[in-house]
Amino acid sequence: MNPRVSVPPRPALSVPPQPRLRLFGSRFGALRTLWAWPLVLSLLVVLGVMYWLRVQELNDLEVQRAAMISDALSLEAQLTHRLDGELTSLRLLADAIDAGRVQPAQFAAHPLVLDGLRRFWVSVTWLGEAGRIMAHLPDASLPANDLARRIGDDGGLAGHLSVSLHGQGEHPAGLLVARYSAAGLLRQKVPWWLASKYDIRLVDDADAVIAATVEGQRDPRQAWYRVGLGPTLPNAWLELAARDRVTPWWRTLPMALMGGFLGLIALASVMLRRQMRSVSRAEEAWRTEAAWRTAMEDSLAVGIRARDLEGRLVYVNKTMADMVGRQPEELVGLLPPMPYWVPEELDQSMTRHLRNMAGKAPRGGYESRWQHRDGRIVEVMVYEAPLVDAQGVQIGWMASVVDITERKHLEERERRQMEAMAHHARLTMLGEVASTLAHELNQPLSAIASYNAGVLNALSGRGDVPEPVLKALQRQGEQAGAAARIVKRIRDFLTRREPQRERCDVHTVIASALNLLKRDIERHQVEIVHVPDAPDAPVPQVLADVVLIEQVVANLVRNACEALSGQPQPRRVWLTVAAGAPGFVRVTVRDNGPGLGGQTVDTLCEPFFTTKSEGMGMGLAICRSIVELHYGALDAQDAPGGGAVFSFNLPVWTQAHEGEMTT
Ligand code: ADP
Repeated sequence: MNPRVSVPPRPALSVPPQPRLRLFGSRFGALRTLWAWPLVLSLLVVLGVMYWLRVQELNDLEVQRAAMISDALSLEAQLTHRLDGELTSLRLLADAIDAGRVQPAQFAAHPLVLDGLRRFWVSVTWLGEAGRIMAHLPDASLPANDLARRIGDDGGLAGHLSVSLHGQGEHPAGLLVARYSAAGLLRQKVPWWLASKYDIRLVDDADAVIAATVEGQRDPRQAWYRVGLGPTLPNAWLELAARDRVTPWWRTLPMALMGGFLGLIALASVMLRRQMRSVSRAEEAWRTEAAWRTAMEDSLAVGIRARDLEGRLVYVNKTMADMVGRQPEELVGLLPPMPYWVPEELDQSMTRHLRNMAGKAPRGGYESRWQHRDGRIVEVMVYEAPLVDAQGVQIGWMASVVDITERKHLEERERRQMEAMAHHARLTMLGEVASTLAHELNQPLSAIASYNAGVLNALSGRGDVPEPVLKALQRQGEQAGAAARIVKRIRDFLTRREPQRERCDVHTVIASALNLLKRDIERHQVEIVHVPDAPDAPVPQVLADVVLIEQVVANLVRNACEALSGQPQPRRVWLTVAAGAPGFVRVTVRDNGPGLGGQTVDTLCEPFFTTKSEGMGMGLAICRSIVELHYGALDAQDAPGGGAVFSFNLPVWTQAHEGEMTT
């Protein structure tokens, strides 16, 4: 298959017309905000992340606080325990003094004293009765620095432990007081991991730092917790301040990433917005143009059809589809034979199609006949031209189609009119001839009548003339008079004078016509059956020109006799009069001859139509004109049992006509 043939329908051609244009406004409105959706969604994501980070931060703070409380309580227990241990050592020393095992001179060398000073006692003092100092260490003889280094005294505030001395009696006999360095206590008893985790301080009620593992004040942003040290170190608090600060949610890495992400999305949104606006503008312009083009194509009076090189319809405009009574969608994609080809002319249409596909369509267009869906024939004029794409390659055939049915009908009507005019011209000429003849015949007929009357007068006075001769002369006079009247009426008719209508009885007119035809009837040996009216339904009188109607009846009967002439007996002609359409009387002339052979009344009444060798073909034409002059109609058809039936209407005479006739 040739790939070039699959011509995609042009986008503009598939654009629906106006209604879509109206919808376009709202669609465009939705599109206008489309660019912001990613930004809005991103904002929602960022808000979600912020919330999550905040929750995480609160969780972390909670966890940190719980750990800090637990660590503070644990450290407080350790310190208390340690001080309790020191108090126990001091009490053992007091017991030894009470037991007399330690004398002031031996005090400095006592292991408990030395151990205490080695740990974190700053000094130990033995006070005797009345507060007399029995012994005091460290000795003032020791260098102060050395002593301080030994006991780890850093010069901070010191606490003290005291135990009463009782001697041998029950009453207190002195006091043993050990001063210790709170800082030393902290330094020795706080585990390294705790010290690395917290800033640990001992503070008094007034928030003054007694001892600390670090220099300086607590940072107000630090999370901290205090716990009292109880009776061991009254009015002192152990304070833990977390070194690791829980990072606020807004300073976390995810927030930084989110910030960057939002910035990029915002930038992308701005660019997208710009892009969408320009696309929308272009689309709007394109749609408007497409709608215009479609509207123009559809409003064209000329049908447009595009076919690919195979002959497949790839586009038809509405006008073209309307011409064949179909929708454009029904036609697009179809290959020959097309549904609008006339079934009886398929071969012809296919030949023409192949010729067109071969590029041999007449340049000046060609006429074709298509069939509308409702069956009527549509005459068209088709102009074919190659369909070329942007690269100049032919991809099919384009045709403009003009409906010329009306024009054809007009031409046909014109042709008929010309024929009718030719007929009329001949009739007029004939009328002229007849008029001249009538004029010319008038004189001799009058002369015949006069001579006849003269001869009759002359002979009737004589008694020797035989009766039959007189009668013949009398008949001759009558016939001459009748002939003169006929000629006169025909002349009047041909000179377009109004017929002389009068009130008359149809049966009388028929009898008179039959009388005129007596000879013919006898010659053809035809039996005339003049059917009388039914006694209960007498036919009313009519308003007619007696002579002209006589001629009509005579012509119809003569034709019937002539049709019967070659027929076997019985040869009969029936004449009937009956009520016809309201206000009319119907006269019927029926024979049992060969019939009309399917000929219609229009054909028979055409001027010069005759089947007789000697016929003129004017009889029925004149009859029809006469009947129509009487506002009636002549009808002819084959009789059911064989033969022909001719009938015509005559208007019934009424009182109203009386007035007409007298005026
Ligand atoms: P003409 O008699 O000169 O032929 P008419 O106009 O009177 O012209 O008749 C036209 C034709 O109508 C006749 O030639 C004949 O074929 C046909 N025709 C008329 N009357 C009859 C009839 N009763 N039966 C059969 N054919 C008839």
